[in-house]
Amino acid sequence: MVELENVVREYPGGVRALAGVSLVIGPGEAVAVVGRSGSGKSTLLNLIGTLDRPSSGRVSIDGYRVDELTDRQLAALRGRTIGFVFQQFHLTAGVQIQDAVADGLLYAGVGARSRRQRAAQALERVGLGHRMHHRPHELSGGEQQRAAVARALVGEPKLLLADEPTGNLDSGSGATVMELLTALNAAGTTVVVVTHDWELAAALPRQVEIADGTVRSDRAHGHGPGRTP
Ligand code: ADP
Ligand code: MG
Repeated sequence: MVELENVVREYPGGVRALAGVSLVIGPGEAVAVVGRSGSGKSTLLNLIGTLDRPSSGRVSIDGYRVDELTDRQLAALRGRTIGFVFQQFHLTAGVQIQDAVADGLLYAGVGARSRRQRAAQALERVGLGHRMHHRPHELSGGEQQRAAVARALVGEPKLLLADEPTGNLDSGSGATVMELLTALNAAGTTVVVVTHDWELAAALPRQVEIADGTVRSDRAHGHGPGRTP
């Protein structure tokens, strides 16, 4: 599903955020990318999400080499393959969450009515069916993040990427969001979660540790398949 080969990402000013990362994530895996602040986790996730391109090295997503695609083709690949969840929920103030989730399908070539129907189903799936017509400020942080997860999954992406999805939540709501991501993975979605929290990372079957822009360790706990770099 994801293949990185010796990926380097340098930012202007000589910052080497990633210093040669090779990583393979198979379909159906659930992986935590864990490491301290500034280690390069978000940079890595943005490259996997095709929101960014590497300075050197190769990134393949769902069998497509990112460097061989135009920006337009990349946007199409992203739209049909990848769902994103961020630390900030990015729900527009004043917009009912059903509409916010339906907007996740704006570029999927689906009519407005079908978009709202599928949004309702996605919200049911995250346990927010009874809150569809509420606006973000009427929901708790945990509920807002569950709505953001619904928006990410409404297009049925094969790959769900989450960057510190529990960073703004209390531990109870955080656990609920992690359970949700685990359930999506059990239903077949490949899941990659970035976190600085080892305890959260341990909830997933595989932990890829990032330090100073490199993979320091790659471990499997419990059920999932494991790989050593
Ligand atoms: P993490 O998500 O693990 O906290 P990041 O991937 O955000 O780490 O950042 C890795 C390194 O790259 C840090 O030193 C950070 O300051 C730097 N960095 C991130 N984004 C940029 C940018 N747009 N321009 C310059 N430096 C950046
Ligand atoms: Mg980050």
